[in-house]
Amino acid sequence: MTTLTKTEDVPAPTESDAFLSVRDLRVQFSTEDGIVKAVDGLSFDLKRGQTLGIVGESGSGKSVTNLTVLGLHNPRTTNITGSIRLDGQEVTDLKDKELETLRGNKMAMIFQDALTALSPYYTIGRQISEPFRKHTGASKKEARDRAIEMLGKVGIPDPKRRVDDYPHQFSGGMRQRAMIAMSLVCNPELLIADEPTTALDVTVQAQILDLLKDLQQEFGSAIIMITHDLGVVANMADDLLVMYAGRAVERGTVREVLQKPSHPYTVGLLRSMPSLTSDVNEPLTPIPGSPPSLLNPPPGCAFSARCSYTDLVAGGLCTSERPHLADGRAAACHLTAEQKQQAFFETIQPRLG
Ligand code: SF4
Repeated sequence: MTTLTKTEDVPAPTESDAFLSVRDLRVQFSTEDGIVKAVDGLSFDLKRGQTLGIVGESGSGKSVTNLTVLGLHNPRTTNITGSIRLDGQEVTDLKDKELETLRGNKMAMIFQDALTALSPYYTIGRQISEPFRKHTGASKKEARDRAIEMLGKVGIPDPKRRVDDYPHQFSGGMRQRAMIAMSLVCNPELLIADEPTTALDVTVQAQILDLLKDLQQEFGSAIIMITHDLGVVANMADDLLVMYAGRAVERGTVREVLQKPSHPYTVGLLRSMPSLTSDVNEPLTPIPGSPPSLLNPPPGCAFSARCSYTDLVAGGLCTSERPHLADGRAAACHLTAEQKQQAFFETIQPRLG
C-alpha cells in the first residue's frame, strides 16, 4: 500500500521506496482578490507500478497538485512551498529547461480532452514522433516507426496508414488513444491522468482504462488518476486520496476507503453516487452547500459548514481546530473511531447491502 505521511507535518522525507514523494505541499495563487490557497499542506507517496486515485469536487486542489508535480505553473503568480521528490530528485528546485527534460523522459500527462491537447494542424504521427525525437535524439525514420509502434500498442487499427491522419480524422476514442500514445512514447515512469475518460462513452471508457492497466504492466509506470468518478477509481487504483478544499481528508487502499469510508465528506461523495444495490427510484443525496472560498478558508475543518456531524464533537473543535491526517489509513476528522463507524453504518452500509 502507498505510505502517506501526516498532512501538515513539515517535510522530512525519510527513507522511502516511493518513486514520487510529496511533503507538505502548499500552492498559493496571487489574484486581484487576494491569495488563493489552492493546495494547503498535502503529503503522499507513490511507488512504481502503483496507481493512486485522487478524488474530490472541482476546486479541491487535485488538478493543481498534479500540474505542480509536472512543473506546469506560472512562477510569477504562484507560490509553492514543500517538497516534491521524483525518483529522489527535488522537482521544486528545477529550472524550466530541466523540468521540460523531466516531463519528456520521466513524467507525462494525459489530459481530459484530446481535441484540445492535440494540434489540428499536425498529423497524429508527427505529434507522437516529435517529442520522441526531442528526448531521445532518434532519426526521423526511427521516430516515425516508434509512432506507428505506439499507435499499434494503444489499439489503433492499421497504424501504418493512420499515422498520417490528422486529429479530425480520428473518432473521440481514437484521439484519446492517440494522446495516450503521445504521453507514453518516451516510456514515462510517472503518468498523470486527469479525468482521462470523462468525455468518452462507457464502452470506450472501459477500453481506455484496460489499456492504461496493460501499459502500466508493460512499462511499470506509477500512475496518478485524477477523477471525480469513484467507479473509475475502484477499477484502476490501488490507493485512494480524497481531497477537499486543497487538503487531503482521507486516504487508504481503495477497498478500505470505498467499503468503509470514515470521513463525512467521503461518506457524502458515496451517497451522492448511484449504487448497484440501490433502487432505481431512490433519489441520490447530494452533499448540501458548497466548498468554502479558498481565499479565506475557515479556521477549523474546511468541511464544517456542510457536515451533519459537528454536534457530536465537543468544544466547537470543528470550527476552531483543523483536524490532522494521521499516518497510514486515516481520516482528518475530530469524530472518534466509534462515531465514524456509526456514521458509516447509518448512511453507507444500507446502500452497500
Ligand atoms: Fe465534520 Fe467536524 Fe469531522 Fe470536519 S472534523 S468532518 S466538521 S465532524
